[in-house]
Amino acid sequence: MDLAEKLYTTYRQEALRKQPDLMLAPWRDLGQEDRRPWFLTVGILKLSPVVVAAEALNLLSAEATAVGNAHGFTEASVGEDVALITSEASELLEDHREGHDVRRVWFEEKVAAYGTGGDRLQVDGKPAFVAVRHGEPRGPGGELRKPCGIPSEAADIVIRVMHFCGKHGIDLGAAVREKMIYNASRPFKHGGKTL
Ligand SMILES: [Mg+2]
Repeated sequence: MDLAEKLYTTYRQEALRKQPDLMLAPWRDLGQEDRRPWFLTVGILKLSPVVVAAEALNLLSAEATAVGNAHGFTEASVGEDVALITSEASELLEDHREGHDVRRVWFEEKVAAYGTGGDRLQVDGKPAFVAVRHGEPRGPGGELRKPCGIPSEAADIVIRVMHFCGKHGIDLGAAVREKMIYNASRPFKHGGKTL
């Protein structure tokens, strides 16, 4: 089930509960044109774009949690998760310190490291690698290379926050909306802050 189907199905059930005679076809009966996410949610269900975005954030959070869990990242405590979130912010800062443009993205490939004698290098008993930077996201065999740079580290921060919220059942979409509404109500520079 993709994001559009989840959103549509969730809100269709809610709309039908409030108004059982509403003419809202189930997902399986919708044509390709009707399945466009924005058309479905804003055009048919008449949801506010902000509500759609908040729900999409929660669906992304569920996706990030599922991917994290599937890769075995289930054990971290709250404190450890906070440390991991801040470590991604530090990686972003390091990219900035290295002078990279904030929008620059490159793709990294880990290549086996060899000494001048042709011997395979090891560090702490593990095979050593060197990072090679590419401009293209895929290698010659179609394999994905790791995205790097400030946009990618910003994404890592968001993904770790979403995984954290998903693990603990936090309604991130609602929390973001609530906080943004509050922030918009605050005075200019929050009444005298310099930054
Ligand atoms: Mg990172």
